[in-house]
Amino acid sequence: MDHFTFRDGVLHAEDVPLGTIADAVATPCYVYSRATLTRHARVFREALSRLPRVHLAFALKSNPNLAVVKLLADEGYGADVVSAGEMARALAAGIPASGIVFSGVGKRGDEMARALAAGIGQFNLESEEEGVELAAIAASLGRRAAAALRVNPDVDAGTHGKISTGKAENKFGVPFDRAQGIFTRLAALAGLEMRGLAVHIGSQLSSLDPLEAAFVKLGGLMRDLRGQGLAVSHMDLGGGLGVPYRAGEHFPSPEAYGAMVARVSRDWDATLMFEPGRVITGNSGVLLTRVIRVKPGASAPFVIVDAAMNDLARPALYDAWHDFLAVAPTGARMTAHIVGPICESSDTFAMNRAIDRVGAGDLAIFRTAGAYGATMANTYNSRALVPEVMVDGARWALVARRIDPATILAAESLPDFLT
Ligand SMILES: *Cc1c(COP(=O)(O)O)cnc(C)c1O
Repeated sequence: MDHFTFRDGVLHAEDVPLGTIADAVATPCYVYSRATLTRHARVFREALSRLPRVHLAFALKSNPNLAVVKLLADEGYGADVVSAGEMARALAAGIPASGIVFSGVGKRGDEMARALAAGIGQFNLESEEEGVELAAIAASLGRRAAAALRVNPDVDAGTHGKISTGKAENKFGVPFDRAQGIFTRLAALAGLEMRGLAVHIGSQLSSLDPLEAAFVKLGGLMRDLRGQGLAVSHMDLGGGLGVPYRAGEHFPSPEAYGAMVARVSRDWDATLMFEPGRVITGNSGVLLTRVIRVKPGASAPFVIVDAAMNDLARPALYDAWHDFLAVAPTGARMTAHIVGPICESSDTFAMNRAIDRVGAGDLAIFRTAGAYGATMANTYNSRALVPEVMVDGARWALVARRIDPATILAAESLPDFLT
């Protein structure tokens, strides 16, 4: 459910006609709905409300915009961060350091030191080597770092290969059969307070079964470690719940997920941690774009829009589908290829898609663009960095301004040997 709806035949974000934003900000731009973000944050929390001790850490990488993170901070969310840059954003948005989990497969020493100095709540260790390094840094700072060991459960998440993270061949976590030994050795280091286990098997999951299989394996490992006399008080179950991108698609609900977790973790007696990203932000944003022109093609016309793969990379990266809707549809339809202006054939949003009939100058949206949208944007082809807007009822505000090519050019300089 979201708050992008038609009123009098015109698509609105909450109470704001999208044309108003396009006129003021120009296109392409992302538009987020505050009400939708709030709703998803509450639905997810509510779905886990029967669990005894829960910590919610919003996965910043899905949408790190300061306003989005502030909204989630106000909803009581902590943060899951994967770099010092994300940590700085989470702190700037008002998330307490103690509520931040530092994930990420390649944390640098300087990043771990900064995170320790900031007092972040937990490091999710990706290897024994990383744990040894963190222990040494912590000891040199006179601290003990609270940490969990990320385990690779070797389950197939059944999602796109590029967003699958829990198979043995993926780079994430430590192999399941080595985890007990690694945890035991790390628990003996003075600089570490090994307190938990973590798992995250992938993103855009369409079934709860692989998640359940991973959680059951993690629970077994927890029991084995406790059997050795080691304390395991925190179990981080990661993120990964998928959202529908196409009208009519169905995904497991947060309620079904919560019920499954409650069943699996019944006798765990641990604080359960979650790292939701897409399920909070996915439906909360759209990418607003204008049709530049329509060009005849061999099998179907090309609708050339002013958004491109540098603004929304998911179709080019993962063959992802985003519904395309005219902001003021006439009722007429067409079959077309939807493409951006970038000089790559991968700059294609859809092929042979049945869409609202659009022509030069018409506004349209790519739906469900709130997660892994603006956060992956870049300036390829010397295009601007796409701006972001947040709507709240009848109000709206620019929450990230467009960064023009001239600003990026100004960061470059000629070396002496060329002048
Ligand atoms: C990306 C990521 C998440 C969030 O995944 P979603 O599919 O957006 O929920 C959570 N935890 C970790 C470690 C991640 O890398």
